[in-house]
Amino acid sequence: MSTPAPLNLLNVTLQYPDGGGTTTALDRVSLTAEAGQLVALVGPSGSGKSSLLATAATLVRPNTGQVVIDGTDTAGLKDKELTTLRREKVGIIFQQPNLLPSLTAVEQLTISHHLRGKSAKAAGSRAAELLDIVGLSASAGKLPHQLSGGQRQRVNIARALMGSPKVLLVDEPTAALDHERSASIIALLRQVTTEFSVATVMVTHDTEFVPLTDVVATMRDGRLTTPVLTDV
Ligand code: ADP
Repeated sequence: MSTPAPLNLLNVTLQYPDGGGTTTALDRVSLTAEAGQLVALVGPSGSGKSSLLATAATLVRPNTGQVVIDGTDTAGLKDKELTTLRREKVGIIFQQPNLLPSLTAVEQLTISHHLRGKSAKAAGSRAAELLDIVGLSASAGKLPHQLSGGQRQRVNIARALMGSPKVLLVDEPTAALDHERSASIIALLRQVTTEFSVATVMVTHDTEFVPLTDVVATMRDGRLTTPVLTDV
C-alpha cells in the first residue's frame, strides 16, 4: 500500500458570514502536498491564501470537503483530537516569529516540549540539532532582541520543526525581511523540507523564489488554478 500524502485537501469550501450573506473564501479547493515537497501558494490579496493555510492547519473547519492530514480525515475528529493531531503532525510558521521576549533561542524550542511532558534531555538535544541546522548554534543563548529579524525567523522555523511535523504551513515568511535575508530563509525552508521529508505549503508574494519550489499553486477568488510543477 502506498503511503498517504501528508496533506490532502479535497473539494474544500469555506464560507464566512458577511452581513446578511456569506463570503466564499475557498471554493472547491483541492491540493495535495507530498512528503519532501515545497508548494508555493501565490495569488492576489483576498484570494483565499490565508484561509487555505488556516483550513490546512485545522484551525478552521471547512463548510464542505475534506482535510486529510497524514491519512486522517479531520472532519470526523472532535476538537480535542484535532488539537492533538495538529500538535503531532503540523508545524505552523507565521509572518512574525512571535518569540517569547524573556526566553533564549534554545528555550523557545524546548519550552513546548516541557509543556508536553517530554524529557528535558531529549528536548535539549533535539533543540541543539535544529539550531545547528538553521545556522544558530552560536546564538542558542541569545534573547530575541539580541537576534536579527532573519535569525528570529530561523528560530521560528526550528521551533516549528521540534515536534517532527509531517506538514509545515508557512505564511509569508519573508514579509519583514530584506532581499538577502529573504533568499536565505526560503533556501532554508527548501533544505528542511527535503531533509525532514515534510510537506510544506508556503504563502509567498515573491515569485522570484519559485525556482526553489516544486509546485506553484495560484489562488484567485477562492479558486485554485491547477497547480503547476516547477522545473527544478
Ligand atoms: P488572502 O490571504 O489571499 O489575502 P484571505 O484568505 O485572507 O485571502 O481572504 C479570502 C476572502 O475571505 C476575502 O474576501 C476576505 O475578505 C474574506 N475573509 C477572510 N477572513 C475572514 C473573516 N474572518 N471573516 C469574514 N471574511 C473573511
